[in-house]
Amino acid sequence: MKLLDFILLMAAPLLGGFAAMLFKTKNREHYKLVLSFSGAFLFSITLIHLFPVVFANSHYAGIYVLAGFFIQIFLEQLTHGIEHGHFHDHRENNTYVFALLLGLTLHSFLDGIPLSSHEMLDDDHHSLLYGISIHKIPEGFALVSVLIFSNYKKLTVLTMLLLFSLVAPLAVLFANQLSMANTELFSILVAMAVGSFLHVSTTILFESESGQHLFGWKKITVILLGAGIALLTI
Ligand SMILES: [Zn+2]
Ligand SMILES: [Zn+2]
Repeated sequence: MKLLDFILLMAAPLLGGFAAMLFKTKNREHYKLVLSFSGAFLFSITLIHLFPVVFANSHYAGIYVLAGFFIQIFLEQLTHGIEHGHFHDHRENNTYVFALLLGLTLHSFLDGIPLSSHEMLDDDHHSLLYGISIHKIPEGFALVSVLIFSNYKKLTVLTMLLLFSLVAPLAVLFANQLSMANTELFSILVAMAVGSFLHVSTTILFESESGQHLFGWKKITVILLGAGIALLTI
């Protein structure tokens, strides 16, 4: 990744976080549509650009993808779904906020791994970077919303947001080193990140207000749009 790519990856959660500070979340429906779009886009990018490399690389890739999926289920117990943009607008206690930051940091670390510039993942179109960055906008938004609702001071919220925005870029740097030092471990981590993406991106697709799998045409339209734009990146 070039410097500009790092800036983009860092700017995405900051953008979402600032948006959460500026606007109170009155327009729930629009927010949900943005979430659905980001989920569909990340899901499609994962299938189109990551699946082929991951499965071409290892006979056991499926097991690691599955492991990543279940790790994400565990992380979601800590974060209550912040990483797919889900949050509740009421005060949270300190224990939850600590668990949230821990779970979100681990998740964000996985986010950065497949963005390493290893030859196995060479991607001229930057589509994966866009997919992950787009998904990090609602992540930042949800994080800041929870912290604001929990009455944290503005400076504290900003500091946490800033630290959070650094995790994925740092993970990329770490993955760059790791991919040279230990290719096998690196490809396992990439497969696990793919499992995590599958979980995060599909959860938001199947989550709906009614609790049933009834979507409505607006949601179906943005999902198709997300998948369609991802298809353009081939
Ligand atoms: Zn959720
Ligand atoms: Zn993420």
